[in-house]
Amino acid sequence: MGKSVIINRKRHVSVLADHRLDPVTKQLLKVGDEVCVCSKCKTIYLKDVWVNLKNGKCCHQSSTLSDIPNLEYGTNPQPVLTSKSFKNSFVFFLLCTVILGSLSVYWYYTYEKEHAKKNRLQYIIKTKYIGFQDRIDEINKKVDEINSDKKDLKYQLQKEKLTTKRLNNSLYEVEFNIGKKQGDFRGLSYDNNPAGYVSGYKMYFDVKMPIVIKQLSIFPERSGYITLQLFNSNDELVNDLKNHQVVALLDDSTFDPKPNIIPSLNFKIEEKGRYYLTVKEDVDLWYDAVEGNYDYCKNGIVEIIGCSSEGYFYDKDYYAYFYDIKYSLNISID
Ligand SMILES: [Zn+2]
Repeated sequence: MGKSVIINRKRHVSVLADHRLDPVTKQLLKVGDEVCVCSKCKTIYLKDVWVNLKNGKCCHQSSTLSDIPNLEYGTNPQPVLTSKSFKNSFVFFLLCTVILGSLSVYWYYTYEKEHAKKNRLQYIIKTKYIGFQDRIDEINKKVDEINSDKKDLKYQLQKEKLTTKRLNNSLYEVEFNIGKKQGDFRGLSYDNNPAGYVSGYKMYFDVKMPIVIKQLSIFPERSGYITLQLFNSNDELVNDLKNHQVVALLDDSTFDPKPNIIPSLNFKIEEKGRYYLTVKEDVDLWYDAVEGNYDYCKNGIVEIIGCSSEGYFYDKDYYAYFYDIKYSLNISID
């Protein structure tokens, strides 16, 4: 038979102060109640409850304590389901909190990491771009300088071209004379000299550099049309003036023939060498007997070496029949 205890006001102060209940009847345990204490779980039952319901059932044993232990009274009959549900909720809440917290921390660090990476990239791009921008600015500056130089050079070139053109024009304008002059003609009168009108003569001359024959004078016996021709030493036609009208004129006072000036001839001789001038048509032209006097037929550029009606017999006894020849240099300054 198990032991029982009578609750005493002095000995069981804490039991009374805790207002403990019998777990089955829910009756408040009070002074004088006879109780049994399960020796295993230390639960306090009213003696009747223990004897009739819990003996051999609580903790599957039937021994009871001889007194109520000072600190342990057994488990408080708490609503188990409620407690469990609360506990589960709490654990769940805790778990959620931990997970959320972890996630927050993870997200925060990920964000911080990405942010730092982004900042670093931005910094690199910025510094590189600044470098590039500096280079681009430098290059643009140089391009501007070059363009400016180019403009200056272009202007100078244009200026020089103009100067060259002007020089070339001036050079072309400078006229040289060769051959017997019209004025000299009168000194050798028809009466005193064996001279007259003739056809079929060639005037041979050498040129030391390219020239342009611009003008010459002839004295035709009658009016008509002539073709003036320039040949090289290979009898190749270099230039000609076709069907040029000539008029026979006489000086009223002296009755000497008057010259026909042929201007704007523009016979171009590109290479130095030997050439000859002649007239194709049979309008006879005046010639002079000069007896070897070819003093007026030579300068540093052109030399008239003789006149002939046959082959290359350069005769200096006669002068036929191109007077006062004007020419300029056929060279250009580049
Ligand atoms: Zn028990």
